Amino acid sequence: MKTFEELGVSAEIRRAIEEMGYAYPMPVQEEVIPYLLEDGHDVVALAQTGTGKTAAFGLPLIQKTDVSQHCPQSLILCPTRELCLQIAGDLNDYSKYVDGLKVLPVYGGSSIESQIRALKAGVHIIVATPGRLLDLMERKTVSLATVRNVVMDEADEMLNMGFTEDINAILAGVPQERNTLLFSATMSDEISRISKNYLHDAKEITIGRRNEGTANVKHVVYVVHAKDKYETLKRIVDFYPKIYGIIFCRTKKETQEIADRLMQEGYNADSLHGDLSQAQRDLVMQKFRIRNLQLLVATDVAARGLDVDNLTHIINYGLPDDTESYTHRSGRTGRAGKTGTSIAIINMKERGKVRAIEKAIGKEFEKGEIPTAWQICKKQLFKVIDDLEKVKVNETEISEFMPEIYRKLDWLDKEDLIKRMVSHEFNRFFEYYRDKEEIETLTDSGKGGEGKSRDRKKGPRQAEEGYVRLHINLGKIDHFGLRGLMEMLNDNTRRRVDVGRVDLMKKFSFFEVDEKETEHVLKAFRGLTWNGRKVVVEIAQEESPEEFPDDQPKGSGRRSRKRSGRRRR
Ligand code: AMP
Repeated sequence: MKTFEELGVSAEIRRAIEEMGYAYPMPVQEEVIPYLLEDGHDVVALAQTGTGKTAAFGLPLIQKTDVSQHCPQSLILCPTRELCLQIAGDLNDYSKYVDGLKVLPVYGGSSIESQIRALKAGVHIIVATPGRLLDLMERKTVSLATVRNVVMDEADEMLNMGFTEDINAILAGVPQERNTLLFSATMSDEISRISKNYLHDAKEITIGRRNEGTANVKHVVYVVHAKDKYETLKRIVDFYPKIYGIIFCRTKKETQEIADRLMQEGYNADSLHGDLSQAQRDLVMQKFRIRNLQLLVATDVAARGLDVDNLTHIINYGLPDDTESYTHRSGRTGRAGKTGTSIAIINMKERGKVRAIEKAIGKEFEKGEIPTAWQICKKQLFKVIDDLEKVKVNETEISEFMPEIYRKLDWLDKEDLIKRMVSHEFNRFFEYYRDKEEIETLTDSGKGGEGKSRDRKKGPRQAEEGYVRLHINLGKIDHFGLRGLMEMLNDNTRRRVDVGRVDLMKKFSFFEVDEKETEHVLKAFRGLTWNGRKVVVEIAQEESPEEFPDDQPKGSGRRSRKRSGRRRR
């Protein structure tokens, strides 16, 4: 590994980046910096955000600037205001010890007059979004005749956003004798065409494999009926209580609708799309960056420039039409050596897109299994317990209230108290999920099934290890739900029984209990009635709910008899 000094980076710049903690160059920097420090070289670099590309082009541009000439010498074009500010900020940091070097961000949505004033005062490096720069060129308040270096950052995004004509017009104002650099996350046909038009003998550098989803990203797909997409989204979010992610939607309207629904239902979510004002977008992004917001519902375009590490999940609420957008979306998680998950919630019609994406990223999607209501409740419950264990107690601040609180709660013993605290936090989920129907995961044949763990050929659902799966002849039409099951268990067993997965169906249900408690539980249910109906609980035989398409036992009414005596173990 080379040092920055060996790459030819000057002492002033090294001093600044060392202070920023850049000990060694990142791969893209090692490749690009020495090449750009020489004149006359064009580069096409396929590098995603987070690879260190800003310094890769920024350091040579700063070093090549002649500060004594008060005119624009380098131009960096980028798709969004956020990225523009970020790049300009980084360049200012790198040039902290380069006396007199001026960097100006030029972007829409802010005062054009102050940008004109700054341009008049003299700048060396302009970082611009195409629209505003073209506006300034047309007003003749900026001339690019002295520019010798042009960088197009996130070129694929600029093309996606429809900036092709603006870029053409801008480059027509820059002399031919220039270095042109094009950075893109993906190599599409249009990027190839643009690089042929604007670059000469460009060196092509690929950081990471071409069009590859990040290695640390797991891709999971849930295929459901279109009507179940939102409910599936909620289940996934509920199943990962610590989720910090972006939910990508296809349109502004859908983005707002999903965000509104989530917010109304108490989720820490907000929307980001082009119909919001710049001030609104800034606020949402800031909230999300500092993790005051857990879920950001966004369009692809609005999320550009939002550079956030540590995202646990990307959720594709439907898949984009082009594979590049998917690569971009999923590349926002699994950064900085962390793992991440990119989830796609799709309907049957979108399955073709999955295959196209798999081909492009060279990875297969896992088939996701939608968490059941019971699994979600269990997960949320343990999150409450976990939070309780970890909560910071501000002894001094609460000490004055404690005597009164102790007095008030004196009549409750420890167990009661714990139950109440847990219920206080957990009831929202319990109330919501207790009578919810499970969502059907669709398989390639278009019929119900549960992907990964319910491979129809391999047979039925197996109980979790250490548990036995029981069948009960009550379902949702009997107004039987989680609460009913737990009440029956609590009221009729003498000791605590560990319950695993529960599948509530229309006319019957399954629940899993600790295998050591099987006989105890079977005995407890003997002779019980539910709304006047005899309750029958048996060990489930090797059949799974999806083998009864309408939740209708084959030869309805005979199922119990058929089951009895055919025990699995
Ligand atoms: P970028 O791809 O330019 O957005 O950079 C991604 C992150 O890596 C930013 O937080 C940079 O500050 C950081 N970074 C860039 N180069 C280096 C380096 N050589 N050593 C350590 N961090 C770096």
